[in-house]
Amino acid sequence: MDIDTAWPDPTKTAEENNLIYVERMPGIIQHGHDILTMEQWREYFARLEGPEGCDFQESPTLTWKCGGGMDKSLSEAILRKMGLDENIVSDVLETVESLGGGCDCEILFNAAERIDP
Ligand SMILES: [Zn+2]
Repeated sequence: MDIDTAWPDPTKTAEENNLIYVERMPGIIQHGHDILTMEQWREYFARLEGPEGCDFQESPTLTWKCGGGMDKSLSEAILRKMGLDENIVSDVLETVESLGGGCDCEILFNAAERIDP
């Protein structure tokens, strides 16, 4: 199954795509939305993109911080600062990893738009 090309379908609305996605990846998105509310997911992704996270800079060249590999330490710190329980933090990290987010920047590149298309 190649979710990168199969989803989202540009001819469908975001909502339809989400339904297709839930059908194709049973458990993951459903589970994702059981862990955090959409506002919490958005806050987490926004903070991960900002100075306390990967700190994306567009000029003079596009740069960002990330430990690479399977390093999600920036995410972990942000999720803890959001006041989430340890077990919620590990559920979130497991979910983003299952969506292609091995490290902090991959979470933004791969997992964020799947959770919040
Ligand atoms: Zn990375």
